[in-house]
Amino acid sequence: MSFADFSFDRRINAGIKSCGYETPTPIQHKTIPLILQGHDVMGLAQTGTGKTAAFALPILQKLLSDHSSQRGPRVLVLAPTRELAIQINDSFESLAGHADIRTNVVIGGVGMGPQIKAFDSSQVIVACPGRLVRLLAKGSVNLKTVDTLVLDEADRMLDMGFMPDIKRIIAKLPAKRQNLLFSATMPNSILAFAKRILVNPQMVRINATSPVSSVKHLFYKTQSSQKSLLLDDILSRSEHQSMLIFTRTKHKAKSLSRQLANSGHDTTSLQGNMSQGEREKALTGFREGRYSIMVATDIVARGIDCDRITHVINYDMPNTVETYTHRIGRTGRAGRSGNAISLVTQDEIPQLRAIERIMDVSIEQNSICGFEAPENSRGKLTENAVDPLRKADGRRRRRKPRRAMASAA
Ligand code: AMP
Repeated sequence: MSFADFSFDRRINAGIKSCGYETPTPIQHKTIPLILQGHDVMGLAQTGTGKTAAFALPILQKLLSDHSSQRGPRVLVLAPTRELAIQINDSFESLAGHADIRTNVVIGGVGMGPQIKAFDSSQVIVACPGRLVRLLAKGSVNLKTVDTLVLDEADRMLDMGFMPDIKRIIAKLPAKRQNLLFSATMPNSILAFAKRILVNPQMVRINATSPVSSVKHLFYKTQSSQKSLLLDDILSRSEHQSMLIFTRTKHKAKSLSRQLANSGHDTTSLQGNMSQGEREKALTGFREGRYSIMVATDIVARGIDCDRITHVINYDMPNTVETYTHRIGRTGRAGRSGNAISLVTQDEIPQLRAIERIMDVSIEQNSICGFEAPENSRGKLTENAVDPLRKADGRRRRRKPRRAMASAA
């Protein structure tokens, strides 16, 4: 199948060409015809599969073939994070080619004035639920003209507690509309929600739980106290073009990023304590290759589309299989190869095995001499364990461990 089979408007075909897409990805192949036919769609797909274009292309086609001169947005896309909203908006703009379709983002962290001003002259609004609810409550905008609703990363929006806001937004939409819901996972809560919102939805599944197959999964067993030295070692061995490192806390993302920068790496961080301007600066620098390493927390890294990411490192293990799937989805995108490396303490081994089982992937163990966690460790050095990096006088050895038993990816 080729894009020509969809008979898109020539301006959209020009947009597809300028994005460099040659053939539709599986989710595009399955979803585009359904959306063009007007069905409600429930898509079970991770980011990295081409799902943004899977909904953006048919939506743009519908906008171009309908010559209504009505003012006000026709399409509302809800996304969990500001970064993802900006990214979706960018995709709409690029895919629209030279067509005169106006799109706008409605997100927190920036002034409301320009968003309110641009609202009615935009056909597509990509919003984070929180900010949109505030604008609706102030009476600054209304959604009476919307006939297509997209809920992207619905599972994440649910996890982030956006459900009450989403319900408030949906209550303001016309009842007659097309609904498209995309989610990387389909827990019962999402199924129940979808049942209420979607009308006779067509279900599309792509790689329900398994990550993109171009990703190689590795783990190092270590102790919490040795993670940063181990990371140093992995960095010195890996040929990474672009690396995304996940930490559990904002504080750790910031301090680890600073530490790596002090050791001479081009590093930035992305975490929720940063202003919107700082986040965008960090993200652009990472995307454009000014920084080869980004240390981030889950909350902001979700959905980030950066083609160049060759390595994702779980400095701290994620708490759920879904989060592992999302993190790893940042690499190996659009068929490129990627590496997923987890630093795992003894306590986290059962969690790692559960991820393997549920995702049906094999996560190979790698080891670097001097960094293995003793079998009886509980994530910390035990009293009797020998710390190979500690010198006889008790001070830490700064040199690299002597020998690698297996090379890092
Ligand atoms: P998404 O799943 O929407 O985050 O898209 C993942 C990546 O795939 C993005 O970098 C898209 O630009 C890219 N992409 C989307 N559709 C195609 C396609 N048909 N061919 C090649 N790359 C694509």
